[in-house]
Amino acid sequence: MKKRIYRATLITSVLVLVVAFALTTRVLYGHFSHAIDTQLEIQLKLAVHGVEVGGEDFLRSLADENYRLTLVNSDGAVVFDTAADSSGMDNHLDREEIKEAIQTGSGKSERFSRTLLKKTINITQKLSNGEILRISTTQRTLIQLVLKSLWPLLAVFAFAAMLSMIAAKRVSDRIVEPLNRLDMENPSDNDEVYDELAPLLLHIEKQNEKIDMQVKELKQRQEEFSAVTENMNEGLVMLGNRGNVLAINKAAMKIFSADKKCIGRPFIETERDVNISEALANAMTCGAAEVHYCANGREYQVNISGIGRGNDRDGAAMLIFDVTDKVFAERNRREFTANVSHELKTPLQSISGSAELIENGLVKPEDIPSFISNIRSESARLISLIDDIIKLSRLDEKTEMKYEKIDLYELAVKTAEGLKSLADKKKVSITVGGQSVFVQNAGRLVWEITFNLLENAVKYNKEYGTVIAEVIKGDDCAAVLRVKDSGIGVPAEDLHRIFERFYRVDKSHSQETGGTGLGLSIVKHAAEYLGAEIDIQSEYGVGTEVTVKFKN
Ligand code: ADP
Repeated sequence: MKKRIYRATLITSVLVLVVAFALTTRVLYGHFSHAIDTQLEIQLKLAVHGVEVGGEDFLRSLADENYRLTLVNSDGAVVFDTAADSSGMDNHLDREEIKEAIQTGSGKSERFSRTLLKKTINITQKLSNGEILRISTTQRTLIQLVLKSLWPLLAVFAFAAMLSMIAAKRVSDRIVEPLNRLDMENPSDNDEVYDELAPLLLHIEKQNEKIDMQVKELKQRQEEFSAVTENMNEGLVMLGNRGNVLAINKAAMKIFSADKKCIGRPFIETERDVNISEALANAMTCGAAEVHYCANGREYQVNISGIGRGNDRDGAAMLIFDVTDKVFAERNRREFTANVSHELKTPLQSISGSAELIENGLVKPEDIPSFISNIRSESARLISLIDDIIKLSRLDEKTEMKYEKIDLYELAVKTAEGLKSLADKKKVSITVGGQSVFVQNAGRLVWEITFNLLENAVKYNKEYGTVIAEVIKGDDCAAVLRVKDSGIGVPAEDLHRIFERFYRVDKSHSQETGGTGLGLSIVKHAAEYLGAEIDIQSEYGVGTEVTVKFKN
């Protein structure tokens, strides 16, 4: 701006200078020409008077190199000339100033030299005898005048231009200086600047207020958006039209092991998964895409939605759901269904086979009781299997249970008594120690836990083995049930799997003892339901100890 003001001021000054020079020269030249004309007219008048009185001799006495006098008769012939021999001169009747003098008594003409550098001024007057007296002088034209005084003129011009430059600089500095001092944050406080700027400053102030309000509103919305997205369990990533990250919430940062530095960078730098990249490209063209993604041992469902329409998308929103539990539950359910079918099929086939043989009379009468006993025991197995499946499905569906306050010690004693015949059969001794401790909001689930643990301790024991159950009050919990046996123990590699449904370390031994492979699954689920903790320690061939800590 300063430069423009400087340039404009300088150009204006130089233009004014040039025009002033031209006009002054023109006016002075005009004035000068007029003075010469007036002087010539006076001289002509004097000469006319002299010729009227003194004739040609008077003219001869007036010979002067500054001007020329010519006497022409009424026919145009030159009678006398102060500068040349009149005998050799042309007839002057066609000359403009002579013609004019003959007609009006006086005349005037100007003739320029070929180079236009000089001009001749002729003034004529008719004498009383009809002759015409002409006075002529040569004068420099304006062009020559300018050319002659070119160098001094240029020197003056250069000096004036220099002054103009200094003045232009000062003017531009002065104009710009208050503008530089303008406080744009508080436009209304700028009292000392130009009045002409007042409407602009007012407008800026209004704009500032508007911008402040919009910034505040945007900030508030941003905070609201952050508050919502940061507390989401699902991952959320907002992407720009080139796939660069615009926003990412805490959950998504955790899933992709990223930090805030990824904002502004292409998402592919954060996660190079080919499936996600392809899904993102699809969402940008088709509008939406879904993809499965695994990281850090967890499984995610990634839904990407393109923002905007057609091929010209503004970006995309990526929502990431943790579906590990869902996938796991689905897989478990599938496996469970397959296992249940298999487990039910075996006793049913046995029952159906035995019945068919009896029906067709293929069994000797003395063998019939053993066949019937087989049918009965397989049916009992089926019933206990179905019982366990029903219990598990109730636990899975979290069906409302009947809660009551239970004395864990009393329950353990009663359960041990119930298992006495089994224990006797296996020549295993059961003892229950400890004290009366109450478990709140428990009900049948505590019985399931106690029964299954004690039953397993007896079932998987050795002849003359021992089962010691203990109920005590815990330091960090309401009650502790500890069941320790001197049985066959669980191999270390199987220990982490025995709580799975239908998992048995030794299938034939388990079936022999009437096990369904679901007992510990029921224990695990019941404990989870009650918020109890289970710990199992086992040594193969030595024995097993299971501890359950009830929270309330
Ligand atoms: P089951 O109905 O077959 O007993 P469980 O779910 O109760 O099924 O137990 C799963 C498997 O864990 C059993 O088949 C058995 O091999 C093993 N097991 C459970 N408790 C004990 C224990 N106290 N000692 C040794 N092995 C055990």
